[in-house]
Amino acid sequence: MAVMILSGGLDSTTLLWYLCSKGAEVHALTFNYGQRHSREIEHAKKVVEAAKKAGFNLTHRVVDISSISHLISSGALTGEEEVPHGFYTDERQKVTVVPNRNMIMLSIAAGYAVKLGESEVYYAAHRSDYAIYPDCRKEFVKALDAAIYLATLFTPVELKAPFVDMTKAEVVSLGLKLKVPYELTWSCYEGGERPCLKCGTCLERTEAFLLNEVRDPLLSDEEWKKAVEEYRKYANSDRSE
Ligand SMILES: [Zn+2]
Repeated sequence: MAVMILSGGLDSTTLLWYLCSKGAEVHALTFNYGQRHSREIEHAKKVVEAAKKAGFNLTHRVVDISSISHLISSGALTGEEEVPHGFYTDERQKVTVVPNRNMIMLSIAAGYAVKLGESEVYYAAHRSDYAIYPDCRKEFVKALDAAIYLATLFTPVELKAPFVDMTKAEVVSLGLKLKVPYELTWSCYEGGERPCLKCGTCLERTEAFLLNEVRDPLLSDEEWKKAVEEYRKYANSDRSE
């Protein structure tokens, strides 16, 4: 029924559950674009296993585009620069952007959809990413949807981003209702054994659970306490400007 991009993080895992819960047959793609660690990919695989156990109908493929990573990124996500601490809205976070990443992945997903005879491609863009990722914005979704439609005109494919008007906290709220196994998801940009709790994506993740008044199930009680402390620290400094 649908092709989707699955990173193994909160948003795309929620999207997988959202589509599968509606009874859709899902073909998930996870991209290896030369991330500084393979943790995301491992978590995507765990999420897929859990989805299969839950009785969902899906296939999963890991797509290796790491050979082009040197062309599209010199940023922190591919290990050449330090991952900055603080919120996404901070200018310093721009080093975590892999330019045009979503368009590259979605173009491949659209080609895959045509091959499978599917007519929809999904990704989990949401409102909380607007500040830093231009390829998560509504204008981008609309423009790429039109371009994909024209490019696949004889077997048209549509681009869908059902969370585009939702905040990350709203995405998590939906996921909690759908019983998404968030303990299997991974967000941190650092390559550590455990989440660093200080990078932009860790802080955003903590905020999303805090706003839902639940503990992040990936973390131990002690880690959660620390995550909340870090969040409050950065929220008081970075956002007071
Ligand atoms: Zn982190």
